[in-house]
Amino acid sequence: ASAIPKVHPNCNARTPPYEKLQKNYETVRRVLGSGNSLTLAEKIVYSHLENPEATLSGKDTSSIRGNAYLKLKVDRVAMQDASAQMALLQFMSCGLPTTAVPASIHCDHMIVGEKGADVDLPESIKGNKEIFDFLESAATKYGIEFWAPGSGIIHQIVLENYSAPGLMMLGTDSHTPNGGGLGAICIGVGGADAVDALVDAPWELKAPKILGVRLEGKLNGWATPKDVILNLAGQLTVRGGTGYIVEYHGEGVQSLSCTGMATICNMGAEIGATTSLFPFTPSMSRYLQATGRGPIAEKATAAGDFLSADSKAEYDKLITINLSELEPHINGPFTPDLSTPLSKFKDAITDNGWPTDLSAGLIGSCTNSSYQDMTRVESIVNQAREAGLKPKVDFFVTPGSEQIRATLERDRTLDVLESAGGVILANACGPCIGQWKRTDGVKKGDSNAILTSFNRNFRARNDGNPDTMNFLASPEIVTAMVYSGKMDFDPTVDSIQTPSGSNFKFSPPEGEELPQNGFEAGRSTFFPAKATPNPQTEVVVSPSSTRLAVLEPFPPFPKTELSDLRVLVKVRGKCTTDHISAAGKWLAYKGHLENISNNTLIGALNAETDAVNTVVDFDGSKTSIPDLARRWKEKGVGWLVVAEWNYGEGSAREHAALQPRYLGGSIVLAKSFARIHETNLKKQGLVPLTFVNESDYDLIDPRDQVTTVGLHDMLSNGGQGTVQLEIVKEKTGEKKLIQTAHTFSKDQAEWVLAGSALNLLAKMAKA
Ligand code: SF4
Repeated sequence: ASAIPKVHPNCNARTPPYEKLQKNYETVRRVLGSGNSLTLAEKIVYSHLENPEATLSGKDTSSIRGNAYLKLKVDRVAMQDASAQMALLQFMSCGLPTTAVPASIHCDHMIVGEKGADVDLPESIKGNKEIFDFLESAATKYGIEFWAPGSGIIHQIVLENYSAPGLMMLGTDSHTPNGGGLGAICIGVGGADAVDALVDAPWELKAPKILGVRLEGKLNGWATPKDVILNLAGQLTVRGGTGYIVEYHGEGVQSLSCTGMATICNMGAEIGATTSLFPFTPSMSRYLQATGRGPIAEKATAAGDFLSADSKAEYDKLITINLSELEPHINGPFTPDLSTPLSKFKDAITDNGWPTDLSAGLIGSCTNSSYQDMTRVESIVNQAREAGLKPKVDFFVTPGSEQIRATLERDRTLDVLESAGGVILANACGPCIGQWKRTDGVKKGDSNAILTSFNRNFRARNDGNPDTMNFLASPEIVTAMVYSGKMDFDPTVDSIQTPSGSNFKFSPPEGEELPQNGFEAGRSTFFPAKATPNPQTEVVVSPSSTRLAVLEPFPPFPKTELSDLRVLVKVRGKCTTDHISAAGKWLAYKGHLENISNNTLIGALNAETDAVNTVVDFDGSKTSIPDLARRWKEKGVGWLVVAEWNYGEGSAREHAALQPRYLGGSIVLAKSFARIHETNLKKQGLVPLTFVNESDYDLIDPRDQVTTVGLHDMLSNGGQGTVQLEIVKEKTGEKKLIQTAHTFSKDQAEWVLAGSALNLLAKMAKA
């Protein structure tokens, strides 16, 4: 083990190209003229335009936001192990020798959380050897930095090493916006978008609107940065941030730690925001220095105007939160926007009939495992120990990275947590992504409640049990509640009886923003960054593998309208990417499109049968959704999915688009889409359409026959024109016409015509 050097040897290579960006920024200012005040988000995004002059000429900020399509050249790409497989398989099919921008791979999602890091990590490495070897060999061949299993979770490593004020980065994971805690624009995308950046094609984004969140006052007592975003999620709902970048500002920003701001940005994904960011602050400067990147802090300080919003910048929406009055919140179950202030949580339990017993507490993850989080948790554990208390239920701790783990080990924080009965899991996603093997006797179907300091709480996400009610809170609240074992315990006011019979009440937690003795690098075997490409390296994909398969290109769009499509399933209610392509055990097949397609839409509720993953074929037989899709594919029956609001919310998982396409789907008709998923569908050659009249959802049923009117023309005209759907009812033969809307740009129309964006890129790379 060794301390992080004052200036990290890679600091220079990881510094954003400030000179180039500032030059672009000057062009942006000149073209837009002095009448346009800019937010920080706009400054950074527009300075990454491939051609600011052409894109912005003749426009003002109000005509750009929410309207213009931006072609952007990003600075960097990060990929996690599950999504990197498909991204790399796609990159490989373009035939290029190296990546056009710096990139990194992080082995974090495929590691189990069960008995503790020492047992779980070697077992997970053994079980996923084929995948980790594939990723490492591809990293070596193409010059991608490789963070081996155990090195940490992608977003924590990005914050510690890559994120920096003014940077623009894509990550193949929906919580990539975590990097906004360091003043960067970090956006979660699918692997196909990452491939754009890796092959030097511009990455296209519809210019987001800007949602300003003004922070006033100062956090105190039990309130934490996590509570800022838990509260905001309650105000905005899971759809409220769609199409927006969330930009925090106001004097309250100055009192937050850099890692606290990262927590807030991380969970911007839960409100559907494109990304979130904070302006450059002294706490960012302190964090950069503590992580060996003092020179970046100096350059960011010198960048002045470029890294802060104009004083007259206007926001499309504005929300104010007074930190001084903010109380802890608990969000859930099953959705991150069901937000309850702690003082009202007891009543909510009674009103909703939620369990009063807590069955487990889990803290850490990419969201909440900073030095500040963990030392505040330590202060709670110390108070409890002095009172003679022990946790009443299982208590798991997931460090976000080897760096934070080693630092907490050196400073004895981990000792304190372990001696209280906490199980330290591997520096990886583990229970946050369904890789939690419970050993506490709770079985599938057992109703129970857990508390986590994670970010996401869709049904069955953590332990695969749809009856586990998963509530989100700060690590401090989770830890204190573990000592009572009760969901209706409010540690800010209630007492616990100690073994000696006295009443004990917690004092508000205290911690340190950064380690006084600097960060430890930890086990160096976990950081084999191989940044020099070696074209001789063989990237092995065995033809007999069940987990990896080379991709075959999808066929191009027919030169006609789509006719005689059939409705495979009419989905009712929430349909997240977890419902469309489940995680958990399916993570094993991320690199094998045929095999993973067996989970397609298995979480979707069919409006016809009122059952999950149960659909009806023409002959009346009931079967699973993937089975029916395969049957129809074999018979040459094209199909579409009909759905409700925010279809594809939740994650950047491109498999949720690849799989329906692979199984023969061609359209998703929904009341609305989540932004990333809508783009992912287009990239894979599927057509996302929305109802002009939402009530038309009631006009269409499973197995109805659908023919497009105007779709081919719209695609051929670069996204111009409208599309209607002619429906022939399966049961009556009656005909109906449905008006639809779309968001196709010229490039996106070309993707669909080519069969997929990758087909187009491969053609361009070979030209
Ligand atoms: Fe991993 Fe969970 Fe963070 Fe996703 S949200 S990166 S699964 S820890």
